[in-house]
Amino acid sequence: MRGKTYTLGGPSGSSVEYFQLIRNIADRYLEEYQDEDSLLALLRDSGSRRSLFRRLFGSDNDHKDLSESLSEYLSKYTNDTAEHLRDLSITDRFDSIIATKEEEYHLNMLEIEVANRVNRGPFRESEYKMALMAHCLRDFRDYCRSEPGEIEYLCRHCEKECFVHTGSMMLEKYGIKSYISATMDHKKLFSGLKKQHPGLGALGIACIPQLVQGMRLCGMLDIPALGVPLDVNRCAIWLGWTGVAWFNLEELETLLS
Ligand code: SF4
Repeated sequence: MRGKTYTLGGPSGSSVEYFQLIRNIADRYLEEYQDEDSLLALLRDSGSRRSLFRRLFGSDNDHKDLSESLSEYLSKYTNDTAEHLRDLSITDRFDSIIATKEEEYHLNMLEIEVANRVNRGPFRESEYKMALMAHCLRDFRDYCRSEPGEIEYLCRHCEKECFVHTGSMMLEKYGIKSYISATMDHKKLFSGLKKQHPGLGALGIACIPQLVQGMRLCGMLDIPALGVPLDVNRCAIWLGWTGVAWFNLEELETLLS
């Protein structure tokens, strides 16, 4: 089973290779950009990002090594993007999530890795830690027993094979309360939570474009945020029907330990 635009690995956890690769690429970028905070600021600033994009992918590219690291090594994970973009409706072409370009995926992958490095320490020190898991990790299960909780939906652990069950058990081990994301207005959700819990730390498990958007929002609200990208994007907004997604549990444990 493949994702609509990207596939990092199969349900068996073969995305291990992807995570090692993105760590190596981030190490290479950090040799050039000195420190993690500066590189993250560059990736998040839209003007700087455009100029970074031109420097890496433009015709006057003087950063051949770096752009080759991104395009040559990462395109094998995103080679379904071109076909997806070709088939987009006029309306969807204006949707910043659905219309994410292939090179943007590569920068987003790097951004998630660098943001995790920057936020790992502050997240650990957060007084109140919570996680939001993508609803597509359980959507295909008609018998799902999840219920509305104080923030979002709560898993009721009805199925041992479900990634939400396994992920939430692991998160609990690290003192993180987990929820299944159902709300679309994350700005309202996180602003309210930050008021309630000034020492808030957040963790997201979602498809790459949505994860980057959520992590940036948390950055703006001064919430240290960690993220694990889904191995595939297969929910209804991508497929037009409800598919099953999964993520790399070992990667989640690596991030938390
Ligand atoms: S384990 Fe949790 S998320 Fe998965 S189907 Fe059961 S209640 Fe739903």
